[in-house]
Amino acid sequence: MEVKKRLVSPSKYSLKCPYPMTPVGICVHNTYNDASAENEIAYMTGNDLATSFHYAVDDKEVVQGIPETRNAFHAGDGREGEGNRELIGLEICYSKSGGERFIMAEKNAAVFIAAKLKEYGWDISRVRKHQDFSGKYCPHRTLDMGWSRFLAMIQTELTKEADELTREEVQAMIDASKEKVYHYWDELPQWAHDPIMALYRKGYFFGAAPDDLDLSYGTMRTLTVLARALKAEGRLEY
Ligand SMILES: [Zn+2]
Repeated sequence: MEVKKRLVSPSKYSLKCPYPMTPVGICVHNTYNDASAENEIAYMTGNDLATSFHYAVDDKEVVQGIPETRNAFHAGDGREGEGNRELIGLEICYSKSGGERFIMAEKNAAVFIAAKLKEYGWDISRVRKHQDFSGKYCPHRTLDMGWSRFLAMIQTELTKEADELTREEVQAMIDASKEKVYHYWDELPQWAHDPIMALYRKGYFFGAAPDDLDLSYGTMRTLTVLARALKAEGRLEY
């Protein structure tokens, strides 16, 4: 999923994201608002409050406001808290009124989170909720609708990707096993035509039918080598 970068000015790092960070997971929030991702990020990076979060996702896109290499203050667990110092903060938009826009925003969040898990090599246990760190009932609408349901949505996205990989692999195997089959004399390359014709004239070689050689590339090579050997021994002329 494409991410639109609207990163906070480095002049505000000391306020919004003062600490370098190596993320260990993702902390999910609901905005409790009805603004788009672009507007949530613009408001967050533009104001003079310490409150910050890395991403906002709505029904159309994901917008980033803080680099993942820096902390953000979103989990309500203080300046030394695990949530604020080690987790990527993700806000799901339009949770105040809910409806179709929120449903789509949550779905996009699931796709985005699944991609992040894959990128970092994390399992589903790395997906946390704001509530885990401060007790605040957030992500409120996602919790109302069911946290395990949301985790299942992410898991479905992970599985979908795995299925697609398997399909790709299977297709690659099918392609690799597809060998050209030669049916007619005039299809044969020059190096194979005369030796195999010589075998045919001597009655050593029969195709699938009188007018169908049914020769795979591998068989064609083998027969050509055989014909050369016979020719070298004086038992075949061409
Ligand atoms: Zn929250």
